[in-house]
Amino acid sequence: MVFVSGRVRVAVRLRPRNAEELVADADFADCVELQPELKRLKLRKNNWDSDTYEFDEVLTEFASQKRVYEVVAKPVVESVLDGYNGTVMAYGQTGTGKTFTLGRLGEEDTAYRGIMVRSMEDILANISPETDSVSVSYLQLYMETIQDLLDPANDNISIVEDPKTGDVSLPGATLVEVRDQQSFVELLRFGEAHRFAANTKLNTESSRSHAILMVHVKRSIKGRESSILSENGNTSHLVKSFKPSLVRKGKLVVVDLAGSERIDKSGSEGHTLEEAKSINLSLSALGKCINALAENSAHVPVRDSKLTRLLRDSFGGTARTSLVVTIGPSPRHRGETASTIMFGQRAMKVENMVKIKEEFDYKGLARRLDIQLDKLISEHERQQKAFEDEIERITIDAQHRISEAEKSYADALEKERLKYQRDYMESIKNLEEQWAIDQKKHCNDRIGSGPKDGCLDKTCNREGSSASISEEVAEVKKALENEICLRKAAEEEVNNLKSQLVQWKRSEAAGNAEIIKLRKMLEDEAHQKVKLEEEITILRSQLLQLSFEAEETRRSLDRGGSGKFLNGLGSLMSQVRHPHLKDPGNGPKASIAKLFEQVGLQKILSLLESEDADVRIHAVKVVANLAAEEANQEKIVEAGGLTSLLMLLRSSEDEMICRVAAGAIANLAMSAETNQELIMAQGGISLLSMTAADAEDPQTLRMVAGAIANLCGNDKLQTKLRGEGGIKALLGMVRCGHPDVLAQVARGIANFAKCESRASTQGSKTGRSFLIDDGALPWIVQNANNEASPIRRHIELALCHLAQHEVNAKDMISGGALWELVRISRDCSREDIRNLAQRTLTSSPTFQAEMRRLRIEF
Ligand code: ADP
Ligand code: MG
Repeated sequence: MVFVSGRVRVAVRLRPRNAEELVADADFADCVELQPELKRLKLRKNNWDSDTYEFDEVLTEFASQKRVYEVVAKPVVESVLDGYNGTVMAYGQTGTGKTFTLGRLGEEDTAYRGIMVRSMEDILANISPETDSVSVSYLQLYMETIQDLLDPANDNISIVEDPKTGDVSLPGATLVEVRDQQSFVELLRFGEAHRFAANTKLNTESSRSHAILMVHVKRSIKGRESSILSENGNTSHLVKSFKPSLVRKGKLVVVDLAGSERIDKSGSEGHTLEEAKSINLSLSALGKCINALAENSAHVPVRDSKLTRLLRDSFGGTARTSLVVTIGPSPRHRGETASTIMFGQRAMKVENMVKIKEEFDYKGLARRLDIQLDKLISEHERQQKAFEDEIERITIDAQHRISEAEKSYADALEKERLKYQRDYMESIKNLEEQWAIDQKKHCNDRIGSGPKDGCLDKTCNREGSSASISEEVAEVKKALENEICLRKAAEEEVNNLKSQLVQWKRSEAAGNAEIIKLRKMLEDEAHQKVKLEEEITILRSQLLQLSFEAEETRRSLDRGGSGKFLNGLGSLMSQVRHPHLKDPGNGPKASIAKLFEQVGLQKILSLLESEDADVRIHAVKVVANLAAEEANQEKIVEAGGLTSLLMLLRSSEDEMICRVAAGAIANLAMSAETNQELIMAQGGISLLSMTAADAEDPQTLRMVAGAIANLCGNDKLQTKLRGEGGIKALLGMVRCGHPDVLAQVARGIANFAKCESRASTQGSKTGRSFLIDDGALPWIVQNANNEASPIRRHIELALCHLAQHEVNAKDMISGGALWELVRISRDCSREDIRNLAQRTLTSSPTFQAEMRRLRIEF
């Protein structure tokens, strides 16, 4: 670590999985992924998403104690030797390795020596025993009282501040001079033996107290100079007597902070509320000071606690401060881990606002992509125009050719027709002429023979006429043959013309085929264009998502996390969340808004129906990301996004898509009642039920259960939700057994019971609870004492709501719920629930009678 003046340096250290986690979390991935070479840590939000954080150092589970000392503490120790004040602090959940990192003595294995021991070694190696001195105090801060670990009887040490210099000291604390390493280790061991260690459920060695080691180093500068001088031949005592002695004083403070987890979670029962507040006071005051410093706030509430008063010099001033935040790998403690990471992130900003460089890169990338995009768009437009022109030209040309061909064909046909008409008329005329000639000849023959000799003449006549008749017949035959010939020729000609016609038709068809081909090419090109546009949209949406992530990271850095459903569940981050954002609407936020506008929600939504599965997955992720932001929800619903997401549930067989879509729906159904009603109106319950029935992945089920649970909280939808099988669907999901899913189911049941209870009070519901009708009671009773507190709390509430109405009392008694209620009224650690259960039991005659019968004291 290279020190930049004043800034608190922060390292994160991951503890390896312990034996219990190796077994219990065997099937689950760690909640963090470290990229030590990039000094980055990724905190998983869910199966497909994670947040990335940068630290000054990222120490993996394999980091040796030596390396940890060298990167975290050594530069501080060096500063202390140079006369500055220095602080090394460990912050983290109990059991994540704070004491391992700082306080380990390493007697069993030298490689395990922690920062305290190694610091002293370094200090002792760098001072000269004749002129310099090292002394230590070892203290414990518990419930705002400072105890002396080196003198256990001395248990109320006060802090004294020099009004002029602001220096803080503890005049009442034992100060022991350290001459060698062995005596220091002895002191530490002695102190450790007195250290108050409240047994907690998480770890029996864990502690709610802060351990503070103070090492005062006094070095005489002249001492060293004189030894150099004497090497050069001067007499040391001479120099000594002429020069005033110059002393450099440095103070190293090593603080092993109390576990950062909330007090009730660690199970430190037996404290009163006042005690609990007092136990947490110093740590939360430290958090507040760090926030104030990180935000350059004018007021830093240093005086709020003893710890912050003691450490006032550690933040700013001359002190070099190094913080190591320790985290565990277990996904079960994701919430604590996230809040520890955020603490570290804020501490990094103390005095020096360090911004992730990527934000810059994102902007550059966005700009480059924009330019490329514009180039592509104009190139495409040019090509499109040229192509259209070409098509038009070809079409006109083809039409021209076709009409020419048609015209010449019609002309030829007409010509032929006229020719044949003419030929026909001519041959008719010929025939008529022939016939007239024949007729004439015939008449002449008859007049020439005359009526002189009737009989002979008759015979003669008969002979003559028979000869002429046969002649005539022959002639007619000939004419007929002639006619036949002509007709054949005509027929041939007609056939000829017909085949020409066929040929023309063929060439016309060929022309048409070409047009069709061209049309198809045009269509292909248009298709290509649509695809290109889609690609552009994907690029843009990727860009949008990248920018979103950058924005998320930036915001997380600024204020500590986001309020999403996806990562907010069960998270304890809210205690350190500060939702004010400086500079809203400028910088990256505005550029996202711009991109969002450019891509257009409609376009993103249309990609949900893309034929390409990858595109669909990508699009639904983008939509889910957008839906996680409350500000976008209304726009998404207005643009029909909700409908598209529901359609996706209906049509998609890909579980990942269903999961992400269900998550987005859950977000949209989180608070807006109109959205909830819209989901119901579009058959959302049966779609979600279908998804629930098909899904196997706990995360999918969690999303679906979360969505239904949100709907359960709407008073107006109760009957419809139940009628469409919503309760049955919820109960069906308990088959999965995953605590996150069960917690959502329990939340849904509690929501439903609460609405029902309201409806009963208002008189709009009279009959027995739908929950009991649908068979939820056995599961409720079975899980009323579930060890996972989110499940247990919801069920306890559900039981109280159900019990408020006499119609449910008989079923609750026979189902064993009375016992649970009694237990809740006595043991529940939440006072409000306990009171609610007591009130409910006292006001129900049926419960009262049963309790008298069973002789339950109440
Ligand atoms: P905390 O300081 O939060 O109370 P501890 O230092 O007591 O946590 O660590 C809890 C347990 O985990 C101890 O048994 C400790 O030996 C072990 N442990 C912590 N960090 C590491 C590590 N980096 N490597 C191996 N074991 C570790
Ligand atoms: Mg500890």
